Amino acid sequence: MATLKQIENILKELLQPELFSDYCPNGLQVEGKSDINRLITGVTACQALIDQAVEKKADAILVHHGYFWKGEDPCLTGIKRKRIATLLENNISLLAYHLPLDAHPDLGNNACVGNLLAKAMSFEKIVPGDVSQLVWQARLKNPVTSKQFRQHLADALGHQSLSCVLHIAGGEGAGAIQNLAWCTGAAQGYIDQAVDMGVDAYISGEVSEQTVHIARERGVHYFAAGHHATERYGVQALGKHLAKTLSIEHEFIDIDNPV
Ligand SMILES: [Zn+2]
Repeated sequence: MATLKQIENILKELLQPELFSDYCPNGLQVEGKSDINRLITGVTACQALIDQAVEKKADAILVHHGYFWKGEDPCLTGIKRKRIATLLENNISLLAYHLPLDAHPDLGNNACVGNLLAKAMSFEKIVPGDVSQLVWQARLKNPVTSKQFRQHLADALGHQSLSCVLHIAGGEGAGAIQNLAWCTGAAQGYIDQAVDMGVDAYISGEVSEQTVHIARERGVHYFAAGHHATERYGVQALGKHLAKTLSIEHEFIDIDNPV
């Protein structure tokens, strides 16, 4: 058993949200009961996740994608009303950590994806990102073809099918892959930054129309491996850490999302 306050304090100390200029508030977003026995983690605080948490009699939910994003309509109407009403009716707290959970050097999404990639292909070295630089880099011991790389990536992220990883072949100058960079989620906008680091391939979760042209014209391979798929790991690692530290129950619920 732990208190909500204890969980909040541990997360605050661990993830240091004050160092980030984020698109949403990090920390406790919806307050529920003060004693926590059962914690559910998930990628996004969608209705399906909340409904399962209610069914499992959870006391708190911890996610990567919470609510109250910059620029969104702040009114509690429609699906937002329903989600928050379900949380409040069931006295379940919602804790959300966005960029601080991407950036954490051990438990973050980028660190976790780095560990998975390192298991699938051997790394000669890894250069972690930090608060100001979310893009991580690594060098493979041996160069691989883009086809081999795509397969390794699909294996690392547990994709059922190779088609889950979209490959945009770089144009002239893009050959075998030895130096790579990655940033989880919708970080396709960092492709130029990655190319400036001198990598052969850049991996993120999503893709935009312009990403294709940048990849082709700057001669770098681009892989979109899934926003959800690349951001499944940080919150699980964080949940495990809390469960171990506080002796509470923890379960990660994967609400399938093909994007
Ligand atoms: Zn995300």
